Amino acid sequence: MPEPKTRRGLLIILSSPSGAGKSTLSRRLMSWDPTLSFSVSATTRAPRPGEEDGREYYFRSREDFEEMVRTGDMLEHAEVFGNLYGSPRGPVVAAMEAGRDTLFDIDWQGGQQVKQAMRDDVVSIFILPPSIAELERRLTTRGQDSVEVIADRMAKAQAEISHWAEYDYVLVNRDLDEAEAELRTILTAERMRRERQPGLTDFVRGLNREFDAR
Ligand code: ADP
Ligand code: 5GP
Repeated sequence: MPEPKTRRGLLIILSSPSGAGKSTLSRRLMSWDPTLSFSVSATTRAPRPGEEDGREYYFRSREDFEEMVRTGDMLEHAEVFGNLYGSPRGPVVAAMEAGRDTLFDIDWQGGQQVKQAMRDDVVSIFILPPSIAELERRLTTRGQDSVEVIADRMAKAQAEISHWAEYDYVLVNRDLDEAEAELRTILTAERMRRERQPGLTDFVRGLNREFDAR
């Protein structure tokens, strides 16, 4: 069988306790590499100020969300902080087939499900805050959640962090520039794995033809 010319797109999973910096780092990675596609999740939570339907999330009723699950439209889904969140399957499969890498900002439950479904194509990265005091400061200064919501997220941070060792890579987001550079390094290396470079066999064949011609 002839080898495909382009590799399948990677599924890059970013998880962390809420407030550690996933969204900020995803945005930076996307401006570094505009070919990256972002998996826009569906959720039953209410939009935060400034969030737009179809950009940060698809904001759906619980009924509509459950219908998407029933019809198999969700690659993964989970309940987080009392709301349902899930990754629609269609855009992910399309990006993969086109050889585009997709970023996911999802929790550990979603990470496990995507890994189970598509192990060879998944790169999982856990982002830790430098301290719990700093995590709380970031949640507060983000200024988008009520005191109650922040308290709930802090209460659940320890449980999310307990899953750190299930990830391929772990980074501590102290300085944004450093964390972004680390993410770029991970992505660059993962793209260079031998099995992800389908053109290599042909390339080396060409080198051998050159040897033969000498
Ligand atoms: P998450 O998506 O993980 O919930 P965000 O990306 O929304 O987290 O980040 C939470 C807040 O912390 C935002 O206000 C963001 O600007 C800030 N932040 C993120 N990374 C850093 C960092 N390395 N240093 C200081 N502030 C940061
Ligand atoms: P937030 O409400 O702050 O945007 O997100 C809350 C949590 O839900 C974060 O930990 C985020 O990673 C997670 N999350 C967002 N989208 C999805 C999704 O599609 N699936 C899963 N499993 N978790 C998600």
